[in-house]
Amino acid sequence: MPFLKERYFNLQQELNSSQTQLIAVSKTKPIEDILEAYASGVRDFGENYVQELVDKQSGLPSDIHWHFIGHLQTNKVKYIAPFVFLIHGVDSEKLLLEINKQGSKIGRKIDCLLQMHIAKEETKFGFNEEELSALIDKYFNPISNIKLDFINIKGLMGMATFTEDTTILESEFSYLNSIFKSIQSFTSSNFNPSILSMGMSSDYPIAIKNGSNMVRIGSLLFGKRN
Ligand SMILES: *Cc1c(COP(=O)(O)O)cnc(C)c1O
Repeated sequence: MPFLKERYFNLQQELNSSQTQLIAVSKTKPIEDILEAYASGVRDFGENYVQELVDKQSGLPSDIHWHFIGHLQTNKVKYIAPFVFLIHGVDSEKLLLEINKQGSKIGRKIDCLLQMHIAKEETKFGFNEEELSALIDKYFNPISNIKLDFINIKGLMGMATFTEDTTILESEFSYLNSIFKSIQSFTSSNFNPSILSMGMSSDYPIAIKNGSNMVRIGSLLFGKRN
């Protein structure tokens, strides 16, 4: 199934009514599919492998906003630091510090989302509520003496349990929304939470109903991945 303009327009219309931003997840999809989506007006693409992202980025229009949505290994941050638009999956203190370090080397402040663990599965990455509070206290409190000058936290990201059970999805998304709301009143020079990235092809309507303002959609736009 190639990228279909009509499918994109319908989805975009649906998202416009709720002011939700679409990230077109192009992982595993060829350059041609991305160019087709680009020609339809898509500018925000999501990838989850560093090598694949770097390869694609180098040959595609420079006005594309590249979102890194996967699990990012610290030793690979340097490859995407110069151009990445938003890193969705900051899931450890070590990664946060490495992004800041790479940002400082090239003099670029890097926008990030902190990934929260909301799913039942053990395998999903992310912070829990206590870890988030501790992290905010340590690095983003105005009186903190550790300054991450090359980080800008723009909000939170989360992935729900892989299930069709809408009750579970509802509760996980609304839980993340409640955490998001609780940190929103708190801002500092490098902490400005306004983005809540949650929802994929299978669960985005429930995510939006529960406060998401950024959805990451792949298969619904580009077709199933192998
Ligand atoms: C692959 C992926 C998506 C998109 O998944 P679809 O089900 O194809 O919409 C969204 N978020 C993350 C983190 C992903 O890895």
